Amino acid sequence: MVRCKCIICQLTDMVEHQLSNDIYDDIMEHIRHCPNCGILYNTFVKTINLCHSIEKVKLPANKKKVFHKWMHVEVKKIVVKRARN
Ligand SMILES: [Zn+2]
Repeated sequence: MVRCKCIICQLTDMVEHQLSNDIYDDIMEHIRHCPNCGILYNTFVKTINLCHSIEKVKLPANKKKVFHKWMHVEVKKIVVKRARN
């Protein structure tokens, strides 16, 4: 059984599809049954999508990757902080 804390930790990996299918399924199953994580997940995905849609800045390929990673980490921090309040 996946616990809520694990969901928060793995949000970034999830959105970037870096999890194995088994773990991904476990987490999706948890999200379906846990309202708190469901809200958290939706907020995270929405915020990330919003960032992606405005991420049209011209950056060198290597910088862009770093920026992208940084953005995901920052968004996760915000969402996690909100979830704890
Ligand atoms: Zn949960």
